[in-house]
Amino acid sequence: MSRRKKIYEGKAKILYEGPEPGTLIQYFKDDATAFNAQKHAIIEGKGVLNNRISEFIMTQLNAIGVPTHFIRRLNMREQLIREVEIIPLEVVVRNVAAGSISKRLGIPEGEILPRSIVEFYYKNDALGDPIVAEEHITAFNWAATQELDDIMALALRINDYLTGMFAAVGIRLIDFKLEFGRLFEGELVRTVLADEISPDSCRLWDARDNNKLDKDRFRQDLGGLSEAYAEVAKRLGIFKDPNIALVES
Ligand code: UDP
Repeated sequence: MSRRKKIYEGKAKILYEGPEPGTLIQYFKDDATAFNAQKHAIIEGKGVLNNRISEFIMTQLNAIGVPTHFIRRLNMREQLIREVEIIPLEVVVRNVAAGSISKRLGIPEGEILPRSIVEFYYKNDALGDPIVAEEHITAFNWAATQELDDIMALALRINDYLTGMFAAVGIRLIDFKLEFGRLFEGELVRTVLADEISPDSCRLWDARDNNKLDKDRFRQDLGGLSEAYAEVAKRLGIFKDPNIALVES
């Protein structure tokens, strides 16, 4: 594994060269970071759980016609993906106020938003991923108008699907972050969903008691992060026995 060429190392994942041109291997680490990496910890088993949860969600999305970079899971921590050019935006969809929208606009956490809201953040660690408007995105050529239209439509479609999918297993989808990429297919360029969808990138609350089943457990020092992620996986039917997540491939 270490002999493979490393293409990129992020906070929670590593990208390696794939077996064929146009493919990459996405490796899920156990590292947890928050507040622009000022807070860091290793949480045993997190990478394994996120690999499985993201595989499950990407597979469901592919099946309803949402184009994604996901090809297949390879083992406990790795998946084969299509190589894309990442659009430098974090696309956040919100259904319920929490996190930065609560702070920025003074909306109490837990308040249901009048409609789903899509926000864009410019992916730039040095600047702390600032929120930006469509005006900035097109003026600075981070994405074209057509790409933004595609991203907006895909983000809302993904939100509708995932809201229902989680509701069916007693989980509220509060908000989540998406990343998109450009997939080059000959003359064609397609906008596809990239990165991951996991409890690291979503806020997920237990519908029974609003207990947090996501990375806020780490951000807010609540503990029990891998247990919460395993609960999400179990409810989605990914593991019959959640303990198996830590041993099987
Ligand atoms: N999010 C993420 N990566 C980031 C920033 C946010 O995955 O770099 C997710 C976060 O987990 C939440 C949603 O995007 O589900 C909205 O996050 P928010 O803007 O409230 O920021 P935060 O409170 O995480 O600083």
